Amino acid sequence: MNTNASKPHVLILGGGTVGMNVASELTKKLGSNAAVTVVDSRPYLTYQPFLPEVGAGAIDPRNVLAPLRKVLKGAKVVTGTVDRIDHKDRSVQVKTDDDVAVSINYDYLVIGLGAVPRTLPIPGLAENAIGFKQVEEAIAVRDRILANLAEAASTKDAETRKRLLTFTFVGGGFAGGEAVAEAQDMVRAALRYYPDLHPSDVRFVVVEAMGRILPEVGDDLGKFALKDMRERGIEVKLETFLNSCEDGIVKTSDGDEFASDLIVWTAGIKPNPVLANSDLPLNQTGRLDCMADLRVKGENGPLENVFAAGDCTTVPDLASGEGKVCPPNAQHAQRQAVRLADNIVRDIDGRPLVDYFHKNLGTVATLGMYKGVGQLFIGGKTIELKGLPAWAAARAYHVYAMPTFARKAAVIAGWATNAIGNRDILGIPESTDPRRAFELAAASTPKKK
Ligand SMILES: Cc1cc2nc3c(=O)[nH]c(=O)nc-3n(C[C@H](O)[C@H](O)[C@H](O)COP(=O)(O)OP(=O)(O)OC[C@H]3O[C@@H](n4cnc5c(N)ncnc54)[C@H](O)[C@@H]3O)c2cc1C
Repeated sequence: MNTNASKPHVLILGGGTVGMNVASELTKKLGSNAAVTVVDSRPYLTYQPFLPEVGAGAIDPRNVLAPLRKVLKGAKVVTGTVDRIDHKDRSVQVKTDDDVAVSINYDYLVIGLGAVPRTLPIPGLAENAIGFKQVEEAIAVRDRILANLAEAASTKDAETRKRLLTFTFVGGGFAGGEAVAEAQDMVRAALRYYPDLHPSDVRFVVVEAMGRILPEVGDDLGKFALKDMRERGIEVKLETFLNSCEDGIVKTSDGDEFASDLIVWTAGIKPNPVLANSDLPLNQTGRLDCMADLRVKGENGPLENVFAAGDCTTVPDLASGEGKVCPPNAQHAQRQAVRLADNIVRDIDGRPLVDYFHKNLGTVATLGMYKGVGQLFIGGKTIELKGLPAWAAARAYHVYAMPTFARKAAVIAGWATNAIGNRDILGIPESTDPRRAFELAAASTPKKK
């Protein structure tokens, strides 16, 4: 792919939190003085902090997606998968959906390829579990849970009913903790329409290897969230491992064994494995080590014109002190992107780069309707929030951070509709097999003799 040689070409890998924000800043700041290309395997950004609410039917899935072509009008968007990075040739191999490989050259490279689920070689895991990082996964979790309620209410077989109503979440960190608490809240709301089902028929199980959940909000609030979940009937198994889940039979290290129709894996992330398919140096965790100004570190100082940020990197957290690194979250990814874009503009202009410095604002998590926990750091003070104030703070912050005015408005409108008419209780698992009804109809048509 040729680029205009008269102006610098900035190639951005990944159109997620880092990629979209870098592209947006650069097109604003540089206008027609640079060519900006964004490559992502999806034509949209997924605002992941809202996925637990998608999984719980509280937000329409479309409303957590920002269409890259609509948002990034001044940039070229390529929908394709990064296959290889050759920095010595200043080129990136990209496979487009038709499996055609194209080579894209650059003057500046920005890497924001994020992370993928960190799985373990547990028997049955790859075949039976689902992740919780993509919008289609959150939709599938929602649809499966809601469809299972309908099926369980109609079956006479006790074992089948038990399996249909057992939902397992492996990992009690941010993603898993929020996802299970939101999903359980959805079930509680839906059960009012199922006179044949009792809340005690439904089993939500969290399998967590550590001795606590939600470490991101600190010890006290983690304990509060644990107590809250247990009081709501969510079974949280601490210091417990998933041993296997072959054929949907969950076996845990505490000796428990049960059939579960849904197994959601939220036990951590690892940097995008495509980074290993490059000539860039990676650290022991497989991440790109960055300087504080977000240039990627080489063996002898920063690599020329290569910047990176977000979940696929290790970036010094200067605000937290010597030796600290930024945790992988949207709060840092979004702000690193702004600093990174400004540093590229500075580099083009021949001005000195500025180090990334961001004081943690805190962490908020929703745990269902009107429930949440949060820790805010304001003016040197730590403010702990529980219940309704935490829930309101989390929703307000994420609406603020969700890209595009239209999506913010749609999310708020959706919440308002839910508040008036209760949230939707329909799961449509058939949507993954849309030709089935037509095939059945066609099969019943007599064959032409
Ligand atoms: C369920 C869940 C809840 C979360 N909640 C919070 C929260 O409450 N607060 C918070 O601060 N953070 C939260 N996070 C974390 C936050 O979403 C991430 O830290 C943030 O999105 C990281 O930004 P990124 O740009 O590095 O990666 P991403 O936003 O994941 O972007 C990476 C992009 O790269 C693309 N990509 C990947 N591989 C390729 C390839 N080979 N070729 C082309 N494109 C590729 C992907 O499609 C994606 O668009 C949550 C995450 C999850 C999963």
